[in-house]
Amino acid sequence: MSVWRRVGYCVAPAWTLRGLRTSSALLKDRDVLSYLPTLKREINKFKWSPLRSSEHLPPDQSDVIIVGGGVIGWSVALWLKLKQTQRCTYSVLVVERDPTYSQASTVLSAGGIRQQFSRPENIQMSLFGAHFLRNINEYLGVIGEDPIDIQFNPSGYLFLSSEKSAEILQENYKMQRELGAQVALFSPEQLKIKFPWINTEGVALASYGLENEGWFDPWTLLNALKRKAMSMGVTFCKGEVTGFDTDRQEMITTEGDSLYMTTIKGAIVTVPKSLECQPVECGVVVNAAGAWSAKVAELAGVGVGNPDTPQGIKLPVEPRKRYVYMFNSPNGPGMNCPMLIDSSGAYFRREGFGGNYIGGLSPPEEEEPDISNLDVDHNYFHEKVWPLLAHRVPSFESLKVKSAWAGYYDYNTFDQNGVIGTHPLVQNMYFASGFSGHGLQQAPAVGRAVAELMIDGEFQEINLTPFGFERFIFNKPILERNIV
Ligand SMILES: Cc1cc2nc3c(=O)[nH]c(=O)nc-3n(C[C@H](O)[C@H](O)[C@H](O)COP(=O)(O)OP(=O)(O)OC[C@H]3O[C@@H](n4cnc5c(N)ncnc54)[C@H](O)[C@@H]3O)c2cc1C
Repeated sequence: MSVWRRVGYCVAPAWTLRGLRTSSALLKDRDVLSYLPTLKREINKFKWSPLRSSEHLPPDQSDVIIVGGGVIGWSVALWLKLKQTQRCTYSVLVVERDPTYSQASTVLSAGGIRQQFSRPENIQMSLFGAHFLRNINEYLGVIGEDPIDIQFNPSGYLFLSSEKSAEILQENYKMQRELGAQVALFSPEQLKIKFPWINTEGVALASYGLENEGWFDPWTLLNALKRKAMSMGVTFCKGEVTGFDTDRQEMITTEGDSLYMTTIKGAIVTVPKSLECQPVECGVVVNAAGAWSAKVAELAGVGVGNPDTPQGIKLPVEPRKRYVYMFNSPNGPGMNCPMLIDSSGAYFRREGFGGNYIGGLSPPEEEEPDISNLDVDHNYFHEKVWPLLAHRVPSFESLKVKSAWAGYYDYNTFDQNGVIGTHPLVQNMYFASGFSGHGLQQAPAVGRAVAELMIDGEFQEINLTPFGFERFIFNKPILERNIV
C-alpha cells in the first residue's frame, strides 16, 4: 500500500511529491509507521501538511466545558473526575486561550494562603486549601511521575490594626478560633518582643497565624492540577470561547419585561491556526474565566438587557491591576518574617533568602490604574508604598527595588468575594470566578464545591449558597472585613 493511501491522503500537489521523492530512498524497506515522522518533516518544509494533526481541535462534544484553564478551571476539572463513579461518567474539556498564562491571575499572584478571614465560609475554604496543600501528593500525585514540591513556606500572616479597627480584629479572631484556625492576638508590647524590627506606633492590636498560613508556588499548583486532571481523562484545548449556542424561552413578567430562560447547548471555540470556529456540544458550562468571566457570562445573555431585571444584571467581575514590587533590604527582617498586612493596607513578605521581599498596596477606588496593559507604575511604589513600609519597618528606609510585575485581580466589584453556583435564568452555566485577591488558596475548595453542586445537586462539605449569583439580584453582599 502506498504511503498516501496508508495515511488516508490520495492527492498531494506535485511540488510536495517532488520534495518527498528526495527522501524516498531513505525510507525504503522501513515499516510505514516508522517513516511517518520523516514524511511529516519533509512535507512541512513546504509549509503545507496534509498530515496536520487535528489534535489542536476540540472534540465535537463534551459533557462539561470549562472556560478558562487557570487554577480554578483545573481544580473544577479535577474534582469532577474525582467524583466520577463507574455508574456515572462524563467527559470534561478545559478550553484555555493562552496556555502561556501571560495575563492569568494565577501565575501573577503572590502565592499566599491565610486563615484570617472574617467570613466563616472563607475561613473554611482556606482551611481546606491548607489541608490540600499539605497532602498535595495524595491529591495530585501521578504514578510514574515526579512527586510535587509546592515550595510551601510556612509563615503566619500578621494583621496589624489601629485603635479604630481593633475591635473588629478581636471579633474576627474569635470566629477564626471557633472554626479551628490557629491564630494568636498580640498587644503592641508582645508584638515588639516577637518581631523586634517592627515599629509599633499606631498599632493597637495584632493577630498572627500560627498554623496553615504562608506562601507557595502558584505555577506548581497550576501544573500539578492540570497534570492530574489530564491523567484522569480531562481533555484540553487551546482556544477561546467566543460564543454559545443557546435555546431561549421567553417569559413575560408581571411588569411586562421579557425574560429568557436560557439553556446552553454548545460552545463556539475559536482555535488558533484554524479558519473556522469549532462548535462543541455540551451539557454544562463552567465559567472559570477569571477577570474576564463577565464577558463569558455575557455571551450566554447574562447582563444583557434591562439592568433592573435579573436578566440585565451583569456578573460584577472585572480586571483590576495590582503591582507587586520585589525589593532588597540587607538589614530587613530575617527568617521569621511573616506576611505582614499593615493597618494602612500595605503588605510585604520575605521572598526566598538574602534580604529579598515582595510587597504592594491596593489603591483606593478612585485611583485604580488603567487596565489596558500590565505595565508597572514605579512611582506608585516610591510615592505610596515605600513610605508606609518604611514607617512600619525602619530598616526598609534603605531598601532597593530590584524588579516588579503587575497582574489582574479577578475583582468582584459588588463585595470582593467569589461567585459560585448557577444563574437563575441560565441554569447550565456554573460560575466559579470573582475571587479578587484570594482565589489561589480557595481553588481546591471551589473546585470541590462546584463538582458537588453539579453532581450531588447541592453543596456537601461547605455550604457556599450565600456565594451564589442570587446575591446580586437580592442585593445581599457578603461582608468580608479582611480584604487585602
Ligand atoms: C498581584 C496578585 C496577587 C495575588 N495574590 C494572591 C494570594 O496571595 N493568594 C491568593 O489566594 N490569591 C491571590 N491572588 C488572586 C488569585 O491569583 C486569583 O483569584 C486566582 O488565581 C483566580 O484564578 P482563575 O483560574 O479564576 O483565574 P486566571 O488564573 O486568570 O485564569 C482564567 C483563565 O481564563 C482564560 N480565559 C478568559 N476568557 C477566556 C475565554 N473566553 N476562552 C478561553 N479562555 C479564557 C484566561 O486566559 C485565563 O488563563 C492574587 C492575584 C494577583 C493579580
